[in-house]
Order: sequence, then structure tokens, then C-alpha cells
Amino acid sequence: MAFVNENHLKLPGNYLFAEIGKRVNTFKSENPSADIIRLGIGDVTRPLPMACIEAMHKAVDDMSRVETFKGYPEYEGYDFLINNIIEFDYKKRGITIGTDEVFVSDGAKSDTANIQELFGTNCRIAVTDPVYPVYVDSNVMAGRTGEYVDGKWTNVTYLPCTSANGFIPELPKERVDLIYLCLPNNPTGTTLTKDQLKVWVDYAAKNKSIILFDSAYEAFITQDDVPHSIYEIEGAKEVAIEFRSFSKTAGFTGTRCAYVVIPKELKAAAADGSEIGLNRLWYRRQATKFNGVSYIVQRGAEAVYTEEGQKQVRETIAYYLTNASIIKSGLESVGITVFGGVNAPYIWMKTPKGMDSWAFFDKLLSEANIVGTPGVGFGPSGQGYFRLTAFGNRENTQAAVERFKTRLKL
Ligand code: PLP
Repeated sequence: MAFVNENHLKLPGNYLFAEIGKRVNTFKSENPSADIIRLGIGDVTRPLPMACIEAMHKAVDDMSRVETFKGYPEYEGYDFLINNIIEFDYKKRGITIGTDEVFVSDGAKSDTANIQELFGTNCRIAVTDPVYPVYVDSNVMAGRTGEYVDGKWTNVTYLPCTSANGFIPELPKERVDLIYLCLPNNPTGTTLTKDQLKVWVDYAAKNKSIILFDSAYEAFITQDDVPHSIYEIEGAKEVAIEFRSFSKTAGFTGTRCAYVVIPKELKAAAADGSEIGLNRLWYRRQATKFNGVSYIVQRGAEAVYTEEGQKQVRETIAYYLTNASIIKSGLESVGITVFGGVNAPYIWMKTPKGMDSWAFFDKLLSEANIVGTPGVGFGPSGQGYFRLTAFGNRENTQAAVERFKTRLKL
């Protein structure tokens, strides 16, 4: 019999959303008439921008003609999309990124999970706590995290982000090699200002660490002092990889398109002491394991950057941000302390009376028939917090807030 990769066996049993699904199903079978509102999983609900739909229809027609048919796409993405990314996401903000520094992909989930393959298994990782679970779990599978003891991995440096420190992580006490930063943050919905992020870029430069910067929620930034890209900070190209996605920006969760930027300046050490460019390493990795994103989808993503596309994207983001403010003000009106929801589609609330996150999950489900996400599912510092998302439709969002006011026994 073949042997399994033992690292996979170390992953704690239930994936967060599987456990939520299980509890909701049990509740539904016991309460079949309950009208459940889901503000849990972070999936979008608004349709794709019409500009993207039209572009994809046209791309489908391209596939029907010999002259315009496309086979395998280039591993790194089509120029028509990369040029738009460079122009609108970077040049417009005064950042110079080369066409060969962008790699189009099928999602920031796979990119943020796969990037760790470029690094030695002896690298020490740091994650903000709470955290998007993919960063940690992908390192568990790679055998980099040690043992799981009392909700924490022994070889992972946790950087608590709680109301006590204003969700601003402290620099690690011991040297770390890889630092995952997700800003605006999932799950807390909070961000760092440019000055606060600069502290991390400076740390990475001084310690020869690498920042893995996930800005999947960049499109939700409303405040001027919040950077849209880590490369707005001087010196970041020497220390950071940036991940972006069309999922939350333009509703591509089911369509799949994202990209990662790996500047040529970014290097890591080989055993012989030489410095290796990560850009080429990633290219080689993608060329081996990935066959590109569909032409039709890339045409759809390209349309995000048209005037119409931009207008439609902004309307949808505004819709979700209005939901966020409805949840935020509604919860505050009943005395609940909330964070986030201004530069992100997530509301991070303190559980009433410091309740355990899962206990509050059960209470909210049974009393108000609302599904949210227990904060502790994102890491030990999420205990006593609870995440609600603004991705629902307006009617359900308003109804959920009403239930918080009238049904929940606070
Ligand atoms: N990064 C973060 C922080 C996320 O919250 C998510 C999705 O919820 C992703 C990445 C996944 O993005 P994609 O749909 O591009 O795989």
C-alpha cells in the first residue's frame, strides 16, 4: 500500500465552513420552517458586470472561428489583460511593474496556497491572528508548521490582531522568513495605513524576510491613507509578493481570475549562499503545474478595466459597502461593538458578554436564524469575535439587522 503524506493528517478535522454547514443542517432538520439568513461564507451574490458578460460572449464567438480561435493560453496570462493590470492597478498609482512581473491565475486562493512551494521547509512563517485559513493550512500540508497544540502550530509565529492593539499587529519577537499580510483584512475587515504598513516593509528589508501581501479586498478601500498596493511603499519591490483577485472586485468567485505580482528584485537564498530571483522560480513552477486561465475568462477580466466595467464594478462595491454600513450601524444601535466594514465587506463584532465564538454562533442561529462565522475559526485571537459579511442582498441584510434588534436576547 502507498503511504500518504503525513502532513495532511495533521490538519485539524473539520474545515471551518464544513462545521458551520453541519450545524446549520442539524438546525434545519430540527426546525424545518426556520427562515435562515446566511451572512457567513464570504461569497458574492451580485451578478458579473455587464461589460464582462458582453466581453465573454464575444470571446466565446472568437473561439468559434479558425482565425480567432485560441488554444492553450500563455502560462503567465494574455498581454491584453496584463497591460491593463499594469496600467490601471499600478501605473495609475505611480507604481512601475513590468509585464513579466505579473502572473494571471485562476484565483488568489490557489496562488496564496501555492506560493509557499518556492520556499524551504525550514522557513518560519508568521501570520496575523485571526487569519484567512489557507495561509496556515497550505504550510501545514508542506510540513512547515510543527505540531498543533492548543489551537496553535508550534512553528508558526502568531501576530495577534485584536481590539486591544487596534488590529495593528506587533512586529515578531523572533526573526521570521515569510510574513502573510492580508489587507484589507479577512476576517476582521480592518486595514493598516501606509505608515503602519511601512513598518512591515522596513522590518522585512532589515531581516531579509518576504511579505506575502494578499489584497483580494483592495477594491473596497474607501479611506485615502490606506494603500491599495504594498508597492506604494518604498522598498516593497525588494521584499513583497502581491496577490490580487477579480473575485471580490468584480464578482468572479465563480468565474475564476486573479493575479500575482512577483517583482524581479525579489530574491531568496539558495543553500550555496547565492541569491535566486523568485520571479523566474514562479514562472518555472507555473509552467510545470498550471496551464493558464481560459481566454474567455481573461477577456471578461479585461473588461473590468473599461470605462463601463469600472462604473459597474464601483456600483456593486458601493452596494456591498452600503450593506456593511447597515450592519455596522444596526449592531451598534443595540450596543454591540463592531470593527471593519469601512474598507472591507466584513464586519467583525465582539460577541456579547464575551461569549465563546461557537456559543454565539449557536445562539444567533437558534434565536435569530442568522448564520455567521465564529471568529475562533480563523485563529485563537478570534475567540470572542464573530464575522458577518456584507455580501448578502439588501433585503436579507436589513432583515438580519432587524432580527438582531428584535429576536436576539442580548
Ligand atoms: N484571499 C482572501 C483573503 C480571501 O478572503 C479569499 C476568498 O475569500 C481569497 C483570497 C480567494 O480568492 P479567489 O476567489 O481569487 O481564489
